[in-house]
Amino acid sequence: MGQESADDLFQRAAEHAVRFRDSISAGPQRPRVSYHASLEEFRQPLPEQGGARLGVIDELVAKAEPGLHAMTGSRFFGWVIGGSHPVGVAADWLTSAWGQNTGNHHATPAAAAAEAVAGSWLLDLLDLPRESSVGFVTGATVANFVCLAAARGDVLRKVGWDVEGQGLFGAPPITVLIGDDAHATVFSALQFLGLGHDRVVHVKTDDAGRILVSDFAEAAGKASGPCIAILQAGQINTGAFDDFEDIIPIAKGIGAWVHVDGAFGLWARACPQRSGLAKGVNGADSWATDGHKWLQTPYDCGYAIVRDEEAHRRAMTIAASYLPLSFEGERDPSHFVPELSRRARGFATWAMIKHLGRDGIAAMVERHCRIAHAMAERLRPEEGIAVLNDVALNQFLVRFGTTCPDDEADRLTQRTIERIQTDGVCFCGGAIWRGRKVMRVSVISWLTDDLAGNVAADAIVAAWRAVRGE
Ligand SMILES: *Cc1c(COP(=O)(O)O)cnc(C)c1O
Repeated sequence: MGQESADDLFQRAAEHAVRFRDSISAGPQRPRVSYHASLEEFRQPLPEQGGARLGVIDELVAKAEPGLHAMTGSRFFGWVIGGSHPVGVAADWLTSAWGQNTGNHHATPAAAAAEAVAGSWLLDLLDLPRESSVGFVTGATVANFVCLAAARGDVLRKVGWDVEGQGLFGAPPITVLIGDDAHATVFSALQFLGLGHDRVVHVKTDDAGRILVSDFAEAAGKASGPCIAILQAGQINTGAFDDFEDIIPIAKGIGAWVHVDGAFGLWARACPQRSGLAKGVNGADSWATDGHKWLQTPYDCGYAIVRDEEAHRRAMTIAASYLPLSFEGERDPSHFVPELSRRARGFATWAMIKHLGRDGIAAMVERHCRIAHAMAERLRPEEGIAVLNDVALNQFLVRFGTTCPDDEADRLTQRTIERIQTDGVCFCGGAIWRGRKVMRVSVISWLTDDLAGNVAADAIVAAWRAVRGE
């Protein structure tokens, strides 16, 4: 075998990967060891001499596997985590093997072209303005950052301030309107951008986390000068959508830039039966969404979508004499993201859309929503269990011990979550909602079918009955 061949390594990695994927359903749906046990497993002095190549890979697998979570399985309902579809993984392996630095189209025409085409497919699938530009980033966190950077630049430019050149010192203040149930990462993005996560105007939300239109109108009425309004498609706990049709015109009426965090919820647009939930969202100026949630690409993959390509480009462009400038009709990936060197995320996105197709994506989204609804309906009649939201999308919240006082119900909910995780039939995590402990269920893996949903719902009921009997 010549130096160049990696045949043995790639074969070995593939064997490990196949065995891992094939074993997920049989094992407990949680890591088998804790962080500290994993740390002990990995902790070794810095190697002074190198190790044999196959041995390194085998050792990595042996050390990592006990601490891996069944995130790619069919009964994983924790957080909002897609299933890393094998087609996306295969494309992503090739992306690594090809080793393309995806800064510009001269360096890697194919990676730049795949992004350009996958980006236009995304606009079509999500039915967003076709003139928008798309930046391929690590996830919705950075997508929120990129979109809000474009927003910051644009609203200040309109009052004669060049934030890209002059920064924020001395700039006119920007009013940021945001709902009380916005995702934590939006506040991080505001923090990175010098807009501050505390100096926002909070707008009240309803019991599902939707911005109250009357409160938004009142806040908008008080805002003066440059303004950014941040809305949401798919609340992380309830899946609720802001009322775009009513709110966006109010925001536009005061000249605000409207940004939408639609990390997973924006994908309702790709599903005819659910697209009504996000009606009017295309009236916004920018949208953040993920590939590694509903599109099932492997980590990491998100999209920053901006209607005004020039605002997007101004906020992100890296200019250096040794980097070629874009020419007419050519697209440099680095003009739409914070990074220069990065992986070619367009390949896995292209492959997933090509594999599922518009119909397959619509059917998958619909199936997840249907399963979430069915699981909630299975839980509702059980004494002591309450489902806290209408299940219009793929997310719901559960509380246990609802016939007990609130503090006791908090304890029972926590206890039931632990019991479910220990039983290991499925995985669900907890959260705090309206000041109280709840269990979250997110149905978003491509592998999850009706049977998996039923088995999981039964396991949740069984765990609750066991806790109630304690
Ligand atoms: C997951 C999520 C984010 C953050 O996305 P990452 O992909 O983790 O960076 C932001 N907003 C919402 C609503 C989310 O669900």
